[in-house]
Amino acid sequence: MSAVQLATGIWRIPTTPFDLVNSFLLADDDGSLTLVDAGMKRADKRILAALAGLGRAPEDVRRIVLTHAHADHAGGLAATQSATGAQVLSHDRDAVYLQSGTVPQRDGSTRMGRIANRLPGGGFAKVTVAETFQDGELLPIAGGLRIVHTPGHTPGHVSLLHEATGVLVTGDSIFNVRGLRYSPATFCTDIRLSRETADRLGELDFEVAAFTHGEHVSSGAREAVRAFLRGRSR
Ligand SMILES: [Zn+2]
Repeated sequence: MSAVQLATGIWRIPTTPFDLVNSFLLADDDGSLTLVDAGMKRADKRILAALAGLGRAPEDVRRIVLTHAHADHAGGLAATQSATGAQVLSHDRDAVYLQSGTVPQRDGSTRMGRIANRLPGGGFAKVTVAETFQDGELLPIAGGLRIVHTPGHTPGHVSLLHEATGVLVTGDSIFNVRGLRYSPATFCTDIRLSRETADRLGELDFEVAAFTHGEHVSSGAREAVRAFLRGRSR
């Protein structure tokens, strides 16, 4: 699957059919690349193929930023990390899960959440997190990548705003699968908090809404996201 350009120096990399799981790539002026998320197990092959399609080498990827520690974002992380030699960065609160290859507890208020908490597995190969970040930080990536902490899906879940181009990566706060929607309750650590923090995204300035699940929206994106949040928030 080939990369889809979202703005100058920013691409979406679908790692499954139908854009169900996406990674993102940001280019710096010095030629180095930053990957956001590494998909499910074996997504590394698709990520490396997309890089080759852009005429780039695996070693060009110097950093991998994780939106959160779930197996559909970190499943291919260890393999991508070893293929590229990149450093892994995550929010402070999810680093512990990435380093142990485990996932945070699910919200126990749904039956499916309680069942998931009792089942073994759901993890992924562990990695070393080289650096952690916190809410509001501007990472020195592609001229500045703003961390917007949107906990609830996981404790350290983040959305990412590239202010120069107005590309917002929502992470799992908002899905675009059969329309805009909040992340499914079953996967959240704290369902109510995940929705409350997703609402923060409507206050940001952006031109392109890019989702880790689903196709991006590049025209009227802010209006579409705000209309969704207005309609769905209580
Ligand atoms: Zn996800």
